[in-house]
Parts: sequence; C-alpha cells; structure tokens
Amino acid sequence: MQKKNGLPTSRVIYPSDKLSEQFIKESECTATKTFDTESYRILAELSQAIMFEWEIVNDHISVSDNWSLVFGNKPPIGNFSGNIDRIFSIDPKTKNVFTEYVNRTKKIKKVGPQHYEKFELHLLTKNNEYIWFQVRLLLRCDENESPERVFGMMTDINMQKKEYESLLHEARHDVLTNLYNKATTQRLIAHYLRHSRLKDKRQVLFVIDIDNFKDINDLFGHLFGDSVIVDIAHSIKLVFNKTDIVGRIGGDEFMALCKNCSEDLFIRKSHELLAALSKTYTHQARSIKISASIGAVISPDYGTRFEDLFRKADKALYYIKASGKNNYCLYDNDLSVPQYVNKREFLLTGNSEKNKKFFHENVVEYIFKILHRSTDATAATNLILEIISNRYKISRAFIIEKNSDGNYSNTFEWCSDKSASKKSSHQDIPKGTAEKFFSCLNEDGIFGCADVKLLPAEMQIHFKDSDIHAILECAVFSEGNIRAMIGFEYHTHPREWKSEEIESLSFTAEILGTFLIQKRTLDKMKHSHMQTLEILDHIESFIYVIDTQNYEILFLNKSAAEFFGTKQLGKKCYNIIAGEEAPCSFCPIKLLDESTDSAQKVIYLEKRDLWLRAAISKIHWSADREVCMVHCHDITALKKKK
Ligand code: GH3
Ligand code: MG
Repeated sequence: MQKKNGLPTSRVIYPSDKLSEQFIKESECTATKTFDTESYRILAELSQAIMFEWEIVNDHISVSDNWSLVFGNKPPIGNFSGNIDRIFSIDPKTKNVFTEYVNRTKKIKKVGPQHYEKFELHLLTKNNEYIWFQVRLLLRCDENESPERVFGMMTDINMQKKEYESLLHEARHDVLTNLYNKATTQRLIAHYLRHSRLKDKRQVLFVIDIDNFKDINDLFGHLFGDSVIVDIAHSIKLVFNKTDIVGRIGGDEFMALCKNCSEDLFIRKSHELLAALSKTYTHQARSIKISASIGAVISPDYGTRFEDLFRKADKALYYIKASGKNNYCLYDNDLSVPQYVNKREFLLTGNSEKNKKFFHENVVEYIFKILHRSTDATAATNLILEIISNRYKISRAFIIEKNSDGNYSNTFEWCSDKSASKKSSHQDIPKGTAEKFFSCLNEDGIFGCADVKLLPAEMQIHFKDSDIHAILECAVFSEGNIRAMIGFEYHTHPREWKSEEIESLSFTAEILGTFLIQKRTLDKMKHSHMQTLEILDHIESFIYVIDTQNYEILFLNKSAAEFFGTKQLGKKCYNIIAGEEAPCSFCPIKLLDESTDSAQKVIYLEKRDLWLRAAISKIHWSADREVCMVHCHDITALKKKK
C-alpha cells in the first residue's frame, strides 16, 4: 500500500504491523479497558481499523467509534454471541465464519498464551454495498488458562481483494474469449482429476478444434477471425454445465472436462457441439461455413492423469481431422494395432466433400502434425497407417524395412477387420527376393496394380497364394538405395487406383519413409553415442570438452566428473579444472591455431597441486562452435618422485 506523509493514500488500508503489535500489547496489559480509552481511540484512528473486544465470560462486546463511519449505525455494545447476525450483515453468499469462530472459541477450555486467528468477511456497509474485511483476532486467557477475552481488528481490504481478484482473473483467463487460458485449464483439470474421489463417476475430456479456421483469417482477416473465436468460445461454453471446466488452449483449439459424464452424455454433448459449431459467417457479402472436430477420452477408463488423457483425446482429435473432420471420436484402446484408435462407426454428420478434398490436399500437413505432436514414433506410424487405410478403404497397410544384414522385414502393419496379419511370416525376406520385386517399380519407385491376376506370370509370383487383388507399393530411398517399402493392399476385388489415391498414398509413403529413416539413423547415432560415452567413461584419465571461445565446459567423462564435480557443465574450465578466476596463462588451447589441430603440453595446476599431461585436439561439435577435447593424464606422482 502506498503512503503519503506516512498516511495511507486510499481509504482502504491494512494497519501497519507496528500498529497491530501496539494494539495487541495494549490489549494484553489493559485487558479491562474499553474502547472509550484515549489510546484505543488514537490507535483506531491511525490504523483506520475497527477494533473490538469481546469479553467471553459475560459475552459482552465493545467496538471502537469508527464503526459508525463504515456501517452507519452506532457501535454495537452488549451481548455478542447471540447477536452476530444482527451486528454484522454478512453476505449470504459467503460463509458466516464469525459465528463459526465464536462457537468454536466458546468451546475452548484451555488456551496457550496466544491464540491468533484471521479470516475474511464480506459485510454490508452504510452505502449498501458489500465490502471485504479482514478480521484478526487474539484470544487471551485468564490465570487459569481459560479463554477470557478476544481482541479484534477489522480492516477494509476490499480494494486489495478486488485488485487481487482482477489480477488472478487476468492470469487465469484468455484475454480474447474470457475462458480459462491453457495453463489454468490444464491445472484445474489435473487438480480435479487428482482430487475427485468419485471413483464410480466418469469424466470426459474433450479437445475441440475448428476445421479450416485459417480460411476465415485468409478470407475475412485476423480481426474478424478473432470475433469468430469469441463467438465459438461462447457457443462451446453454452454446451457445458457451469461446473464443467472449459478453456481455450490454442488459436482455435478448446478443451473441456465434462464432469460426471456417461458415454451417452458424451455422444449427446458431441452432437450439440457439432451442431453449435456448424455455422456460417457472413462478412462483406461473402460467407464461409465452419465446423469442428472433437477428440475425447473417458476417465478413469483410459487414465486418471491429465497428461495421459490429453494425449489420448488429442490423438482421437487427429484421427477425426485426418478422417474428414466435422465429427467426433472417443478414444478406445480395446483394439489390436494402434492402441488408441477408435474404430466405432463414425457418426457422420456431414463429412462434406470440401473436407474430403481438404484432407486429400492436406494429407502431408496431417501426417506432419501427427508425427510432430507424437512422442511415440511407433504409435504415430501405426496411427498414420490406420488413418490412411480407413480413409482410402485399404485392407492392409505395411512397412518393410531393410535389416542390418541386407534382408527385409515387415516392421509395421495395419489390417482391417477382415484381413489377416502377415507380419510374422514377412520377416527376413531374402535380399534377392526383395530386389526381384524392386525391378517392378517405375522410375518414381512406385508399383501399382489394379488386379494382380492380370500381371505377367513372372510378376504374379510375388502374389501367389495371397488374398491380394490390388496393390500399391512405394519405395523409400536413402542415398540412392531402397531402404524401405510402404505398401497398401486391397483384398476384396480388383481396384483401379485413382490418381488422387496414388498421390496421397505415395506422399504418405514418402513422409513416413523419411521419418522412419531419420528415426533409424537417430537410433543408430544414439546407440553409437552411448557406446562412445561408455568408452570415454571407462578411461581413467580426465577427458573434457570445452568451447575454445568462452572456455565453457561442454562435456566431462566419468573420471573428470568424479574429480571436478558432476554439475560443472556450462561453467568455465579455468575455474573448475584449475581453480583460477581467469583463463590460465599456460592454457593448452593457445597451442591450437588455424593450421594446428592438436597439441600436447605438460601443465601444472598450482591451486590443485596437480601435474597433468594434456593432449588437446579440435573436434567437430556443432556448426556454430569451435570446440576442443582435452585428454589429461595425472602425472603428479611421477613429477614428485623426480
Ligand atoms: P484444421 O482444420 O486442421 O484445424 O486447420 P485450421 O485451418 O483450423 O488450422 P489449425 O487448427 O492448424 O490452426 C489454427 C489457425 O488459427 C492458425 C492461425 O492461423 C489461426 N489462429 C491462431 N490463433 C488465432 C487468434 O488468436 N486469432 C485469429 N484470428 N486466428 C488465430
Ligand atoms: Mg483448426
């Protein structure tokens, strides 16, 4: 609180701690005084707090005169506990904590030397408005330690409370829609899930994303887009109950926790949402229709932790997005292949041609989004195979990857309900067999066939005794060689592949293939990195890596970490290794220059009394850093012997 000339600038103040202390001291030694004493009057005036004293034994209350300034009537006097409701007009929407306090205090038999409590009250004042007061109470006892009297101070904290509430509101709400913001939505839902002991009750977590929202911005501009978001937020809020938690978690993405929600209610709410969000916006004589996609998951059936549930609802959402939008999907993992995909019949509420076309046009974007949002590459790959297969009514989708021995194995597979898995029988396909098939591919690495029975005999061999009628296979190249094949089989009858299908499927194969190659390379690098670390850790001498520009330590092997401390990464080597405050005059880095990539030097670390033979060499770390590795042998014993 700001003060001018030592006095509070606003009507609303907290008494300073000094004044409270003084009041309490006065109260202690003048327990028998009433509020007409001069010192109380001065204290009350200075602090602008209303002071009162309640003598418990005879239930008598006396209150400082400034009561009248706030409440209009005369300060109450006399019988207290039976008159609390008459004395204080407590906001009926709030708890009567004063009565609770009085009843509790009357029951106390023995108290310690100080019994201090504070609470807040929302009281009706003379201006007929409710104001927040903080009430601080000190309970004093007599020589037998029985409660004798209570000294109290009431301070107007309305302004602070309002400021605090408005700050809290700002911090918790999304400025545009006034719904909870992302952090608050997550926190509230996580908190509710953690604390809801309603084990037999179910909750549904909804993730809602507007379809093709970018079109609105593109057509009508961002400002109009903002007003649409506000309108959408309002519509979403109306679908849920007041007690449900609803928030905006991204540009056009919303989340809601529907408490105590059955599967039937979920379906009802989803239909309501789809209907409420299926709107046409008109601006400057042009119209645009929007729709929404919904992913959801039931708790506790599919988890009780927020992160887990969100991941599942998000996957269900992406499933719908990629399957044509304007629909909803409830996560269901009673399924064989990707655990998280809902195979329920889609409740089609208008998978418009536009969205289907949109899917085709944006297949790349969706695949990227799924891969980008996924933390689990295997699950993401399975999901993509399933989405694509469902979308294009494929019987079986598979990925065959080259093994380290040059043979090929089926690593991923998705099968429709009517098709059997072939994964186990498609392991270690000999390199020669695979290469024979590769010769059927066209120059883009694609092989498409509407009816395998019409293929020349030498090619039919590949599909002998199989249920395949039509097939589309796409090769994934890496450095000019085929590293994998992604294939889509159709088992029902011959099928002419449309150019749109070939395009989408080969795009999918290309992206998935690139992703898989990257993943495998990363796995390999990780593996060899771990091996390198292990080797370095088994070396007893010290190895560390430093940035030659700023002497920052980037790596310490196990011996060095044990000697110099494990938490030294990012700190300066002269400080950590040599115990100096500035770069050492003998620093071996100085031996390196443009033409010298490595050097050796014997150095003496005076502060550590340590002789080291240091071998230093430039190494490649990252494009923007000049880095060198220092390998030190401790030769102190050798030196000292001499
Ligand atoms: P999809 O059907 O896949 O959901 O595509 P979409 O066009 O709706 O795009 P997406 O959900 O991926 O991204 C939401 C877009 O909303 C991105 C951005 O252009 C726009 N956006 C994000 N925040 C705001 C905002 O505060 N105001 C406005 N007007 N637009 C926003
Ligand atoms: Mg969207």
